[in-house]
Amino acid sequence: MSIKKLILLPVSFFGLLLLVFFLSGNPFNISTQAQSLPAQGELGTSEVSEQDAQKAQDYFYPREQKNMESLSRISVPTPPPGYKQPSIRKVHPILFVAQDKTVLPEHQPAINSTMQLIRRWYSGPLEQNNLGYTFEVANVAVYNAPFPFSHYQCGRAWCAPDEWIDLDLNVVHALQDAGYPVLLPGFIHEIFVIGGGGWASAWCYPDCPVWPDPGPSSETGVAVVGDWALDAISTGPNPDCVVQMGSACNKYPQQGAIAHELGHTFGLYHANDDPRSLMRNWWDFPYVTLIGEPKNDEIRVVRSNQFIGSRVCTHDSQVIRSNMPSTVTKSLPDAPNKFFISFTFNNYGWCRWTPTTFNTFLVKDNVWGKRRANVLSNVYPAQEYRFRFQLTAPTTVGRYYSLWKMRKSTTFFGAQVGKQIRVTNP
Ligand SMILES: [Zn+2]
Repeated sequence: MSIKKLILLPVSFFGLLLLVFFLSGNPFNISTQAQSLPAQGELGTSEVSEQDAQKAQDYFYPREQKNMESLSRISVPTPPPGYKQPSIRKVHPILFVAQDKTVLPEHQPAINSTMQLIRRWYSGPLEQNNLGYTFEVANVAVYNAPFPFSHYQCGRAWCAPDEWIDLDLNVVHALQDAGYPVLLPGFIHEIFVIGGGGWASAWCYPDCPVWPDPGPSSETGVAVVGDWALDAISTGPNPDCVVQMGSACNKYPQQGAIAHELGHTFGLYHANDDPRSLMRNWWDFPYVTLIGEPKNDEIRVVRSNQFIGSRVCTHDSQVIRSNMPSTVTKSLPDAPNKFFISFTFNNYGWCRWTPTTFNTFLVKDNVWGKRRANVLSNVYPAQEYRFRFQLTAPTTVGRYYSLWKMRKSTTFFGAQVGKQIRVTNP
């Protein structure tokens, strides 16, 4: 369907949707106030070097632009008479497997866990009045397509390896023909295409043809990514990707590419060159945000999207890594044995961790001369925080636990990190 046709969509259908939306009332308390954005540096540190970030920018954006122009010719199906949106609108990931491609056991768990992390990430920029805002997500569906990959790559039985024509159009149309509700109101699909290389594109409806910066909210959308994203989250950086953009092919940056394409499906375009935004520096994920300024209010666009709902700010954490000795020598009366431990949690909840309110606390055993360490900067959902501090060995030999958990004030939450440490004679 052409852009012209998209704009001239059946008025009755769209009018009805608008009516339903207004009758149901706007369920979201949309603030017109600009959010207070994190200060420079407060977002944490990206793992992508400046040089690779420049490469990612130069490689990604011209191609994405071209892909999105071709995706604008996509068939947006006319919903059948009496069509009702699903009562719970969700983002649906699909793993698209051409007849000559193979699913790895890592693929499905990687897609599901990435989508869960991206859900949490979105709740960070969208947090308001002690509520986290994010989308619901379905488990990944696997579609075993009947034709070899080349059929979808260029729409013919055979094509040259570097000949890419409308991969996303062909994939979407194949899914629609197979009965998937791609681009029906109430569904957003993010499609992972095995064989799709560095492909990245996205489209939304109804207002994406007239995308300003940022665009209006969407009622349906589709995003397509290839092996570079899929490999990074499942088996490791894709070699072809590494040649083009180095460290931007790692897990976090590529999760950022997946989250960026999802941002387009919610109605966002690019972020007026603001490097703090996911819609610009996706390679800095999870240490990026959405912009909430009057002229560039990404937060408002996404928070008012009908796929986004509120949830209570419950907190959770995952252990990312820890570094503690297995054996230390005991302290002597005149010579305390001090040593460092470090461990990293991620914020796997729905709102940010704030300094002084959030801390890590010793669960077991209270023999180390320290029981508590505060979070010193805001930690937004999906971001990591590393604790590093000194313990003092006890004066009696034995086996003691050094087990730590996150707390909000005095309430424990999330995963436990640590181990039993053997305390020996010097
Ligand atoms: Zn983009």
